[in-house]
Order: sequence, then C-alpha cells, then structure tokens
Amino acid sequence: MDVSAVPNIKQYINGEFLEADSNEMFSNISPFTNKEINQVAKGSEVDIDIAVAAARDAFKHGPWREMPVKERLNYIKKIADLIEEEAEEISYLESLDTGLPISQTKKQAARAAENFRFYAEMVNSRLVGEAYQVDEAFINYTIHKPVGVAGLITPWNAPFMLETWKVAPALATGNTVVLKPAEWSPLTANKLAEIIDKAGLPKGVFNIVHGFGETAGAALVAHPDVQLISFTGETKTGSEIIRNGASTLKRVSMELGGKSPAIIFDDADLEKALDAVVWGIFSFNGERCTANSRLFVQEGIHDEFVRLLKERVDNIIIGDPMNPNSEIGPLIHKEHFENVSRYIQLAREEGAEVISGKIPEELKEGNYVAPTLLLNCRNDMTVAQEEIFGPVMAVIPFKSEEQVLEMANDSKYGLAAYIWTTDIKRGHRLAQKVDSGMVWLNSQNVRDLRIPFGGSKNSGVGREGGHYSFEFYTETQVVHVSIGEQSIPKFGVKKKQ
Ligand code: NAD
Repeated sequence: MDVSAVPNIKQYINGEFLEADSNEMFSNISPFTNKEINQVAKGSEVDIDIAVAAARDAFKHGPWREMPVKERLNYIKKIADLIEEEAEEISYLESLDTGLPISQTKKQAARAAENFRFYAEMVNSRLVGEAYQVDEAFINYTIHKPVGVAGLITPWNAPFMLETWKVAPALATGNTVVLKPAEWSPLTANKLAEIIDKAGLPKGVFNIVHGFGETAGAALVAHPDVQLISFTGETKTGSEIIRNGASTLKRVSMELGGKSPAIIFDDADLEKALDAVVWGIFSFNGERCTANSRLFVQEGIHDEFVRLLKERVDNIIIGDPMNPNSEIGPLIHKEHFENVSRYIQLAREEGAEVISGKIPEELKEGNYVAPTLLLNCRNDMTVAQEEIFGPVMAVIPFKSEEQVLEMANDSKYGLAAYIWTTDIKRGHRLAQKVDSGMVWLNSQNVRDLRIPFGGSKNSGVGREGGHYSFEFYTETQVVHVSIGEQSIPKFGVKKKQ
C-alpha cells in the first residue's frame, strides 16, 4: 500500500480547511504496517468553540434551515451523487485507515450514499404535521423544526458509513453539525468534508474537529450551544457522555457495545446458519457492534457444527486489506490488537479450547488476529460476557430452549440476537423473549434503511434509522390558533373594593 500520496489532514470549520488553533498534529498509524500514514490536526476545546460558534451562526442566521425544504434536500442528494462518484477513493482510504478488507469497504461507501438519498426522501415525506380541531374556535397544528447544533461523535469501525448515518438525517432536517470523528480513523471523514464543500453547502453548516475523545469529544459534549449529541461507541464512553451532557440537558442518542448471541437449534438449516454466523463474526475483522460473538449450539448438532466452523476458520483468507480476495485484514490499532490478544489468552486460562486460523508470515507487521473459536465456553466466563470486538467467537453448548434463553439474556448487553430454527413458533416465542433491540430470525444481519437500529440494556439509549432519526433530529412544536369566537376569562377587570 502506498501511503506517500496521502496528505496531512486539517479540520473543516466554517467552510475552510484549517490547522488546529494550537498548530498541534497527531500521527495517524496504518494498521497494516504500524507506520505513520499521515498527520492530523489535533483539535482541542478551543477548536470546538470555534466550530460550534460557526455552526450556531449558520443555524441562527444562515439560509440552511430557512430555505425551501426541496432546495435543502437537493444538497443532500448532491452529496449522495458525489459519494457515489468518489466511492472508489473512499473505499481505498477506509481500508488504508482501518484495515477493513476492500471488498467490504466498497459496500460501505455505497451504503453511505444510500443514507443521504434515503434521508432526502424520508424528510420530504415526513415533514408533515398533525392538525387538531379542538372545537369550533380552535385548531392546533404541529410542525417539525430542526433542533440546532448537532454534536456527532463516531467510532473507528466502519467510520464513513457510521458518520453518514448521523450526518445525513441531521443535515436533511435542517440542523447544523459539528462532527468529531474517531482519532484512529480520521481519513474518510475529511473526504466527507471535501464532498460537502464541493456540494456547496452554506458555510458553517457542516464542521469537523479532529482530536481525542477526552479533549475535543468532551468539549463538544459540554458545550452549552450544542443541543444534542448522537454518539456511537463504547458503553463506558456513552455513560460518561450522558453524565457530562446532563448539566446542559443534552438530548442524547447512544449506540453502544454488544455481546450478541446466535442460537442454533438442532432443527436449523445448518448450512445457512453456518454461513450467517461465520460472516457475522468474521466480516469487518470482527470489529462490529452486532457481531454474533456468543454462539449457542444445541447439543444434538454441536459437534458437527463445530467441525464445520473449524473448516471455515481454516479457509478464511487473511490478507492485505487492499487485496480484493482478503476476507480478514489487520485490526485497527496496536492497542486494540493487544486487547483482543489478551482476551484470547484469558480464554485459555478460563478453560476454553482455542482454535485459530493461520496468519501468513508476510503479514507480521500488521495487527493481525486470526479468526478464532473459543470452544466449550460457559456463559459466565469473562470472554463470554465482555465485548472483545475482534474475530473471536465464544461457542457454548446448550440443551433446551429455557436454558438457552436464560443464558442469552444473562448479559449486560442487548444489541442483537440471531435465532436459527425451522420451528417457526419457537422462533417467534424466543425472539420476543430475548432481551435485545434487534432479532434476526433465520436471517443474516442486514437492515433496510426504514427499519430502526439500536440496543437495549447497556447497548444503547434510543434508536437510529428510519423515522426514529427524523424524530431525534427534530423538535415538534404545537401552534394553537383561534379561528372563531372564543371566550377568554377576563382577569384584572373587576373593580377593586
Ligand atoms: P470509543 O467509545 O472509544 O470512541 C468513540 C468516539 O468517542 C471516538 O470519537 C472518541 O474519540 C470519542 N470519545 C472518547 N471518549 C470521549 C469522551 N469522554 N467524551 C466525548 N467523546 C469521547 O469507541 P470506539 O472504540 O471508537 O468504537 C468501538 C465501540 O463502538 C464498540 O464498543 C462497538 O460495539 C461500538 N459500536 C456500536 C455501534 C452501535 O450501533 N451500537 C456501532 C459501531 C460501534
């Protein structure tokens, strides 16, 4: 991979690409070589202040929220067109920055364009209010207004797609935005800034401040002129953000971690279930919030299913993320690699049998973790309870429906669950009893953009996607109007005694 052509990156504030106020930069490191890709402007509280002031000014005085909705949505569609035009470069930069295989980042770029197109249509059809005829003298009606300055804080896994998931509805509904992308994956966020710049959005409508969570991120959360925070990231960070945003009463949306169960019953379509769980844990390098990182297999098929899993693990292609054949690339960062490796060691100490694929010798500079099965786990092991966020799946045998439901729900997380059975009554019964925001029954992890996304318990607060994002990014206002004779109590007209 040639990284010499990747320029240093700046922040994007008020329509300009700017150095950080302090002029400080930080190093952006390749997951493939662990060498520097480029340098990134290191934003701080001062830069957040400048960006929020620009966004606030654009919200209050700019044309963005006042312009005809059709005109605003044309900008949103233009962004979608430009993403499509630049999809190849976006996918290249994403793989370079994150280590995600290029075949997978290509689909993410396409999905990002869809996010903008989808919200252009959704906002157009959704900007309708309700009207109430209270009585002959009164009607009340509702309108949806943008909330203000939206603070968006995003993680490093699938960064471009997850950023657009927030940016598209926030902008389409007329808010202005300050985005704080993850410090380990800043490249494609700047591509988005270039695209938005090219689309000609008014200055200050969209801003990016790069930098670290504890400084730039925390300043965005605490800023009194930011009305809402949409956050995707770790549960621990989410709860800190809720705490820190409380004093300024931030509206929050939290998309957090997971330890999602896949449950395979004896009567499941084994081939389909196998395809789904292998893809569900090993695609995106296992760095995926909805990964089926706990696999429950019923005892009648357990040994056969594990044999098939081992075959797949042996065959998965671990390679250069730029190679279109690669199925697994390096993990995002050395620190994360060490974390995941520690969990694999812990699994051995906790008594699991560890089965891993083989990493080719020529990849030793990268943060590669081979696809790994932790066999014969118990649900109370640390490796079955904590989110590992790598290509590592804890396999747990079970006997009965009651037992597996108990174990599946014995988790602090509740993001996704996957159920494989041909007994459709049992499938629905279990789907409704499992504690998770989303359940896929005999189906793989795909989602139509109209459908809500999000988790329960420690996996999140609120939902994104579909009309849920529309509601999050808008304020509903009621207008009470008198259209007839009304009797208003007369106050202060009595003669004083
Ligand atoms: P993270 O929480 O470490 O960081 C996410 C973002 O928060 C980064 O931009 C970071 O700079 C910022 N941040 C960190 N501390 C902050 C603070 N105190 N105040 C404000 N901002 C702060 O998460 P990560 O490691 O980048 O991402 C991986 C996590 O994201 C995993 O737990 C994964 O499950 C979760 N995730 C969830 C979803 C979902 O939709 N539920 C989707 C993708 C990822």
